[in-house]
Amino acid sequence: MRWQKGRRSQNIEDRRGRPGRGRRVAAGGGLGMVAIAVVAMLLGVDPGMLMKIGGGLIGGGPSSQAPAPTSAQQDQQKELVSVVLADTEDTWRAIFNQMGRQYSEPNLVLFSGSTDSACGYASAAMGPFYCPGDQKLYIDLNFYSELQHKFGAPGDFAQAYVVAHEVGHHVQTLLGISDQVQRAKRGVSEAQSNDIQVRMELQADCMSGVWANHAHRSRNLLERGDIEEGLTAAAAIGDDTLQRKARGYVVPESFTHGSAKQRQSWFFRGLESGDINQCDTFAGSI
Ligand SMILES: [Zn+2]
Repeated sequence: MRWQKGRRSQNIEDRRGRPGRGRRVAAGGGLGMVAIAVVAMLLGVDPGMLMKIGGGLIGGGPSSQAPAPTSAQQDQQKELVSVVLADTEDTWRAIFNQMGRQYSEPNLVLFSGSTDSACGYASAAMGPFYCPGDQKLYIDLNFYSELQHKFGAPGDFAQAYVVAHEVGHHVQTLLGISDQVQRAKRGVSEAQSNDIQVRMELQADCMSGVWANHAHRSRNLLERGDIEEGLTAAAAIGDDTLQRKARGYVVPESFTHGSAKQRQSWFFRGLESGDINQCDTFAGSI
């Protein structure tokens, strides 16, 4: 990716080295958990589902120990992340303008280990996620190390895809899609609810592809090998790939993010067209 000369976003909140309060409070007497349960009741959701509503990048969480990135590597990743975030701002502002809407920019929180979010306590083990409650993306840069070493998806474009996917969830929130999805999931079976969730995740993958299309057409950001990196990352964090790795077999009804093939094909659809109208994952078969 030719990102080094790109504009840096101002919307980065760097909380690395500052652990979230949730862990200490919870350990002291469960107040953190009570607070989460209260928030959950207010939102009308099962507390266990709280973190899922934000729409993380992966089903389940990475748990193995990948080598921690050095601080120089992390600083470079922070630069990359702020360029990609800035590029998504330019892309989505233009697309929203065309739709006669206004795009409000999300913040991106960099944290290490754990932090607090409006969706509850966030730990690195959950992987990157977006919280609609505060309209912020949360990324622990160690995840990039796992993406490379555990999921076998190295490269700067793989890292960019992660940011663009979470921004996709922000776009869904702004367009009211996330609310519709939450409503649709009430009172349906777990399998149906998972199906809706998969469609939501695949749409975020498609939107990530839409961003890549615009970034390349307008700012010539992509270079040889980038698309392959994105596709490798999309496949590496498909539910089937993760389940096969974790338990040796695959249970499609339990998918919450889509299979490797689905994630690749929706990313590619957004990438080829650059058109969010091509990202209607809720109609028809996926
Ligand atoms: Zn997601």
